[in-house]
Amino acid sequence: MSAHTDLIRRLIPDLDSYLGSDLPVYSPIDGQLLVTLKVDSQSSIDDKIARSVSAFHQWREVPAPQRGELVRRLGEALRTHKEDLAKLVTLECGKILEEGRGEVQEMIDICDFAVGLSRQLYGLTIASERPNHVMQENWLPLGPVGIISAFNFPVAVWSWNSCLALVCGDPCLWKPSEKTPLTALACQAIFDSVAEGYPADLSLVILGFAEQGDQLVSDSRVPLISATGSTRMGRAVGPKVAARFGRSLLELGGNNAVIVTPSADLGIAVPSILFGSVGTAGQRCTSTRRVIAHESLIGPLYESLSKAVSQIGETKVGDPLEASTLVGPLIDQAAFDGMQSALDRIRPVAKAITGGERTREDLGTGAYYARPAMVLLSENSAVIEEETFAPITYLIPYRTLEEALEIHNSVPQGLSSAIMTTDVREAEYFKRHSDCGIANVNIGTSGAEIGGAFGGEKETGGGRESGSDSWKAYMRRQTSTTYFGRERPALAQGITFDV
Ligand code: NAD
Repeated sequence: MSAHTDLIRRLIPDLDSYLGSDLPVYSPIDGQLLVTLKVDSQSSIDDKIARSVSAFHQWREVPAPQRGELVRRLGEALRTHKEDLAKLVTLECGKILEEGRGEVQEMIDICDFAVGLSRQLYGLTIASERPNHVMQENWLPLGPVGIISAFNFPVAVWSWNSCLALVCGDPCLWKPSEKTPLTALACQAIFDSVAEGYPADLSLVILGFAEQGDQLVSDSRVPLISATGSTRMGRAVGPKVAARFGRSLLELGGNNAVIVTPSADLGIAVPSILFGSVGTAGQRCTSTRRVIAHESLIGPLYESLSKAVSQIGETKVGDPLEASTLVGPLIDQAAFDGMQSALDRIRPVAKAITGGERTREDLGTGAYYARPAMVLLSENSAVIEEETFAPITYLIPYRTLEEALEIHNSVPQGLSSAIMTTDVREAEYFKRHSDCGIANVNIGTSGAEIGGAFGGEKETGGGRESGSDSWKAYMRRQTSTTYFGRERPALAQGITFDV
């Protein structure tokens, strides 16, 4: 047990019941082992899915506003545990504490959103072509929702899915990342603390790796799989769910770009690009990977960005629990190796590279900290079509806005995009031509509010979750026509069928 035992035990009072020898959990802060857990067996996953189905049969009968009351209580409990949970997020995934707090705040925000939503799960009344008929579209609970989440947003993604699913009448089965199971157990304990008096098993955690996730994905008792992670994972999950006619909501990798035009206010552009590039050590699906800058300003922009990342690299990379740190560790050695291999591949064609080296080895030999990297290119390159989940940003020049959008849309992913401009024509052209699910103006690619629908196109998977009408993914739509006349009802399309 490590020095962080108190925090872990405070958040997970029944920790002992999860201990085992299958799943070692390390903190990326110092590479130290935190605990070793056991993973769910095939039969325990099977049992959990059966329990979730029973919970569904009870939960769907509870009026939606009463379901919302459970989520309201969850939001209150999260407020109480915000600081502790934020620390555990930092301890387990390495994002700086300020961002850990932001992640828990996002959970609280989605609880509030879902509570309001629980009174607004509206359908439609549609004009019928037949007299004395009323046609309606009703939204009904769907069934157990399988949630598979990535390490980099270890708790927010669960709350985006589960809060909406719960008010929609669906219990949840959550397979968190094998790199961040403790935050999941902490969320389960917080959920359990408010769930007394409600049907049992509305929320269950399944611990394990891809194999355990696959069992959930393959089970036809789970009508919706909401999976967040790499495109590689989505390629395995999507077809499996489709083969059993289930629904999937895929939130996969990004390769996000900011276009900087000659009219941009650089006082706004530079800090936005910096946060997008180096925030969360470049480990956000919405991190800024590419800056597509007009040829007239790419040189000075590279100078100011590389100066800023050098300063961050020298003084602000370190222990994410320290208040002065801006960039914490990469999640593990594989992430660091991936960063180095991406830099090695781009080096032969790069005009200049700043940063990228390993640093802060004093914090632990098993901890991987990297100086953020800026790479100046003279033209677009196929090397940057892949997502590297690390703080590397490539600067690419463009001559016309049409060319900028062509470069922008040339990657296989389509999550988040941004333009820095003070010209309304450029802004509107960009919004219409960006092929991403998110298109921002004078705001970076990283960091979204929960009120909007979140997700992306192409290899990002096409899913939408969180705000707007994303709730519809968690319900089934039923069209219902009722006849309230006294005569024999007319048939649609004026068909006569007299016997
Ligand atoms: P990952 O794909 O390695 O793992 C994600 C989850 O999928 C884990 O829980 C893992 O156990 C599970 N999994 C992997 N293969 C599976 C399979 N065949 N069947 C079932 N489950 C499987 O991703 P990661 O390294 O944890 O996270 C980083 C990736 O996630 C990046 O690509 C990032 O862009 C993406 N991401 C996307 C979003 C988004 O909203 N679009 C949000 C966060 C992270």
